[in-house]
Amino acid sequence: MKTKRIVIKVGTSTLTHESGKLNLERIEQLVRVISNIKNMGHEVILVSSGAIGVGAGKVGLKEKPDSVRMKQALAAIGQASLVSIYDKIFKEYGYSTGQVLLTKFILDEETRYNSARRAFDAMISFGVVPIVNENDVISTYEIEFGDNDTLSATVAELVRADLLIILSDIDGFYDSDPRKDKNAKIIPVVSEISEEIMSCAGAEGSSRGTGGMKTKLRAAKFVNDNGIDMVLLNGNVPEKIYRVLEGENIGTLFKHKEK
Ligand code: GLU
Repeated sequence: MKTKRIVIKVGTSTLTHESGKLNLERIEQLVRVISNIKNMGHEVILVSSGAIGVGAGKVGLKEKPDSVRMKQALAAIGQASLVSIYDKIFKEYGYSTGQVLLTKFILDEETRYNSARRAFDAMISFGVVPIVNENDVISTYEIEFGDNDTLSATVAELVRADLLIILSDIDGFYDSDPRKDKNAKIIPVVSEISEEIMSCAGAEGSSRGTGGMKTKLRAAKFVNDNGIDMVLLNGNVPEKIYRVLEGENIGTLFKHKEK
């Protein structure tokens, strides 16, 4: 199997229970799969949401608040726990982690962009798993990434990944909203993100997550335009990632055009 540089994005709904508290078993499974993929020789960068969700759980809120100021505070409160849990579990499998908090500013300036790229390369050369989130405390949601689907696509391009895997609470990309239409079918391969494809995406995310299908399609378009494939997969069984790497068509593959 060719060594691949893979960015894996995991959303809040995959990492937490409905109570808002962390789904520790899911996180364990995800970390074990990532560690095992690294043992196979692949390089993995993890983009993890969940800071605001975990922060809300820590202070006893059932749902994410609307106010930006509150979200920022909860992100800070949650991020510390999130990363320390990842770090503890990765350590059990022999890997260290590095926390990377990014903002959209890295895209505005070549110096920042290149310095982030070099830092990622150095971490990867140490065999460390970079764990990325948005630096929510200094982000204002109108001008920043706001959702980690977009962030993960940017990171995939930044590190020149071969593949972006987005783990969500949905099995793949459907031709209509499966929550409303029971005849909705998964589209296994999308090779062009046309207007028609865009119109299949509903706007809503889940109550704990942020992005809906639109942000995932935009992420797919961005990485595909940059020569990177993207797979959208249900994160409820992280072992499915092995099947993706074996070339099995599960979830939806958004395939870049060969030039
Ligand atoms: N950065 C936010 C968090 O960690 C998540 C954004 C998203 O859900 O995509 O909670």
